[in-house]
Amino acid sequence: MSEHHIPTAGLHRWVNDLWIAAGSDAREARLTADHLVGANLSGHDSHGVGMIPKYVMSWRADELQLNRKVSVLHDAGSMLSLDGNRGMGQSVTEEAMALAIERAKAHGVCVMGLRQSHHLGRVGHWAEQATAAGMISIHFVNVLSKPIVAPYGGSEARYGTNPFTIGVPVADAPPLVLDFATSAIALGKVRVAHNKGVEVPPGCLIDARGVPTNRPEVMFPRDGAAQGALQAFGEHKGYVLAVMCELLGAAVTGGHTIRPETLTHRHAVWNNMLAIVFDPQRLGTSTSFGDEVRTFADWIKSSRLQAGHAGIALPGEPERQRRRERAETIPVDSGTLAQLDDAAARVQSVCGTSPGPLSRLAA
Ligand code: NAD
Repeated sequence: MSEHHIPTAGLHRWVNDLWIAAGSDAREARLTADHLVGANLSGHDSHGVGMIPKYVMSWRADELQLNRKVSVLHDAGSMLSLDGNRGMGQSVTEEAMALAIERAKAHGVCVMGLRQSHHLGRVGHWAEQATAAGMISIHFVNVLSKPIVAPYGGSEARYGTNPFTIGVPVADAPPLVLDFATSAIALGKVRVAHNKGVEVPPGCLIDARGVPTNRPEVMFPRDGAAQGALQAFGEHKGYVLAVMCELLGAAVTGGHTIRPETLTHRHAVWNNMLAIVFDPQRLGTSTSFGDEVRTFADWIKSSRLQAGHAGIALPGEPERQRRRERAETIPVDSGTLAQLDDAAARVQSVCGTSPGPLSRLAA
């Protein structure tokens, strides 16, 4: 599959204009473009502009709702329960995080639940919103769409790729951002391997009978055949973390956990999130913390390298490296580019306006 390079600024403008054409207000369109292009910039193409065709399908099916604001369900000062009202995740989550940060500034901590957000994308983006305000944040998220991950010991998919994220600001240094799916690899990475005709690493997949396999096609069966499943990362450890993401992200926030009765929409990916946001300055360690991080980082980076490794990175470093590499242009594979052109054509047919095919910007 061939790869095209799209100028980063042009891609941002195209995404912004697409959502303006679909009916988003200026804020929502800008935040959606910031977030999706930001995910590509960070190297997470599985959560970048390639999600737009799915969002457009969800919007056309009246599942994703544009220009929604969060509503406050329960407000106990440092405990805040919000409903995203099926709004664009990039917009309602920004609003929810801004409220949580404001409360953490006032009270030292805010435990914020956000339910019923449309796909809120790369969760690290929300941790970065908190770290930019000097806050530590911890996020548990569940995913309400077709189950694709098998529970440890199970041979059928029962839940989603439930991400877990922690952001930590460091004085005079970039923040640390741990941000990953609890599946061994993201489904987007299985799709890339499938398109390239290559195998995935061992331990990532089982086939429809529950037998471990490296063949990505088990996730994209033809002619109504049964689908395989992703496995959790780290065997039982990733699985139990995913269970906590499901229960804290959804059950505690009043969102739905995943089961047949709650999977009522065809195209939407819904997320529910619990975020614990707190001000580390209130723990009285703000002067020593930065020094501890720096000396610990020096210590771990002084380890002799294993064969095949170029260096030792801290959480968030690979994303910063990618942002430097992709500042001018972002690679988009030809399959994704065709889907994005198609998404623009769909917006054009419904609204009578669109930014036109993205492929016009491709080199
Ligand atoms: P991943 O496997 O690339 O892991 C990323 C994390 O590991 C980051 O914290 C990164 O800094 C760190 N990391 C990566 N390589 C490293 C190295 N060599 N040394 C040190 N640290 C390293 O991420 P993933 O599991 O593919 O998840 C990708 C994105 O998908 C995340 O942003 C996640 O939030 C998002 N996601 C979202 C949803 C949703 O429903 N909204 C669901 C699943 C995943």
